[in-house]
Parts: sequence; structure tokens; C-alpha cells
Amino acid sequence: MTLDKKARRRSDGDGSGGLTPQRRAVLRVVRESDGHLTAAEIFAAAQKLLPKISYATVYNSLRYLKEAGLLGEITFGNAASRYDRETARHDHAVCTACGKLLDFDLAETLGLMKLAARRSRFKPASIHLTLVGLCPDCSDQPAASRGSGVRRKR
Ligand SMILES: [Zn+2]
Ligand SMILES: [Zn+2]
Repeated sequence: MTLDKKARRRSDGDGSGGLTPQRRAVLRVVRESDGHLTAAEIFAAAQKLLPKISYATVYNSLRYLKEAGLLGEITFGNAASRYDRETARHDHAVCTACGKLLDFDLAETLGLMKLAARRSRFKPASIHLTLVGLCPDCSDQPAASRGSGVRRKR
């Protein structure tokens, strides 16, 4: 698969051994978070490790780490990319009320990819399923306390 080739192109082993301190810090932030952080959130956390790190450095490090296959990037429409410590293929559920993003995996997704490929006549490389809805916390709340806002931001 092309992804493997890409990951192997930079052969510093698999780990953070050959990384600059900045890249290591960025990778650590992503790996230590259980969520899916945006570049801005990663920048804020990386500054606690390396106070002098710049946003551009964080951003470039994220690009590098993604290319090296050390982290994943997820995009939803026009929203800011989120970075994922889980690099294996998996699916996401996103809460429209609080913005929570959850990992899940379905065996069926691969079958879905075949169907989607047949329908679109694309040669499939990967498929991502995103379930959009209300997380358990948000769906427990009565509608009134959520206000009108399915679009409310965190
Ligand atoms: Zn929620
Ligand atoms: Zn994920």
C-alpha cells in the first residue's frame, strides 16, 4: 500500500530516536493526549514542554510526523485538522454539541470500502466512517439545557 511506502521513506526506525527535540515534544503531546487535538491545542501543550517553540515549528513538525507515519491527521470539512496518535485505520464518532471525538472500529467498514469503490469506480486506498450525532453525555441532557445549539462550539 502506498501509505507503507511513505512511512518507510524516512527510515529513522519507527521511533522518536532521530527526531529533533521540537518534533519529539510535539509527538509526545499527541501521544499523551487521549483525544484528537488541533494544531492550536498541540501548540499550547508543546509550549509547556519547550517554552520557546513557535507555532510554525509545531505546524511543520506535525506535517513531518504525519509524513513519517508517526501520527494521523483527520479533517472534517472546513474544520481545523485534528491529530491522532492512532495511526492504524479506524473510524470516528463526533458530537455535534460538545465536539467530542471518539475512536471506534467496525469490521464492516472494509466491506463498505469495497462497495464504495465499486459504486464510485475509484481504486480504494482507505475509507473513514464518521458518525455524527450526540455523545452519551450530551444526549442525556434534556434538550432545553442544550439551548438551540447543535452547532455550539466547545
Ligand atoms: Zn457531546
Ligand atoms: Zn482517532
